[in-house]
Amino acid sequence: MTMQWKYTLSEPVLGEEELKAVTDCITSGWLSMGPRTKAFEEQYAALIGAEHAIAVSNGTAALHLALAAVGVGSDPDDEVIQPSINFVAAANMTKALGAKPIFADIVSVNEPTLSPSDLEAKINDRTKAVVVMHFGGYAARMPEIMEICRVRNIAVVEDACHAPAQYDAATARSLGTIGTVGCFSFFSNKNMTTAEGGMVATDDDDIAAKIRNMRSHGMTTLSWDRHHGRPSTYDVMAHGYNYRVDDLRSALGLAQLAKLPSINDKRRSLAATYASEIERQLGNRAHYIFGDRAKDGTAHLAGIVIDPDLRDGVRTELANLGVQSSLHYPPIHMFSAFEGSCPDGLINSERFSRGMITLPMHSGLDEVAVQGIVALLAEAFDRNV
Ligand SMILES: *Cc1c(COP(=O)(O)O)cnc(C)c1O
Repeated sequence: MTMQWKYTLSEPVLGEEELKAVTDCITSGWLSMGPRTKAFEEQYAALIGAEHAIAVSNGTAALHLALAAVGVGSDPDDEVIQPSINFVAAANMTKALGAKPIFADIVSVNEPTLSPSDLEAKINDRTKAVVVMHFGGYAARMPEIMEICRVRNIAVVEDACHAPAQYDAATARSLGTIGTVGCFSFFSNKNMTTAEGGMVATDDDDIAAKIRNMRSHGMTTLSWDRHHGRPSTYDVMAHGYNYRVDDLRSALGLAQLAKLPSINDKRRSLAATYASEIERQLGNRAHYIFGDRAKDGTAHLAGIVIDPDLRDGVRTELANLGVQSSLHYPPIHMFSAFEGSCPDGLINSERFSRGMITLPMHSGLDEVAVQGIVALLAEAFDRNV
């Protein structure tokens, strides 16, 4: 049965601009990675203030290349410390490189980003890199985390998939440009989309060169160069991948990039409405995650934490009332494929995940819709007793 949702979880913002961009690309006769990708990379780098931005086929590919480029997997006992409250991509790519993910806890149930103190407790001689994730587009505790890693010369990979073009006052940088390498996703439910797509950002020239090279089989030249009569042969410098994006997606990306600041602003104001409405209509029955910082992030997710004993019942009633909801995220260390990876468990991560609900968040909503969703949430609580 497919539900007819009154409020869907997420919707892309697509219009005439995207249609024209893709049509122009098709008319141009060049579909694979070429001039539009170059422009997309340049504009993205400029927007977030990075020296280099490298477009790739998706956010997972971005994480794979970033982890590889900082040396993860070069020693057989490499460990990568990362939050268990994340999408599984970074952990899977850690495993793909032959390294071991070490899961660290979140700061608290109300601040679901990497705990600097648990990070510090888990660092050892095998730690090759640390992954941070800016949950919902709200900054992890970067000043502390960067200092912990700087003194030990450990690379920091930012999973900034929720956080495109978000300024961070604490570091005076854009999220994804604070660590060694930053990774972004443009999957269709993200704040900006290219259908599938991703970006890697870094200020490090050597890391950027490695990532560009590994994006395309480790080859020294690209089809676009050969098409323009540049070197007709090539060398293979490393064992790379095919993680290229194409110009159709980059055309979409350029159109979306122009809208991203207004999309983010719209979401920030919806987040502020959510935070105040939840306080007004639900009091202490629900906590809106990062509600106290609503306008300081990209508001990628509208997440709440409630009593874990009520969570599944409330979600069922929400669905009955036509509100689509989700869960970001089940802790990675509790998935079958990661069994045994965290024998002591992670108290805050597990508690967070048991009480967490993600509510609809996208630019198609307005203040009245958010008030309506929160009213239905209150009704779901009442029905569930
Ligand atoms: C979407 C997402 C990814 C993976 O990106 P894909 O483009 O789907 O491969 C990784 N991490 C986080 C936090 C994400 O939200």
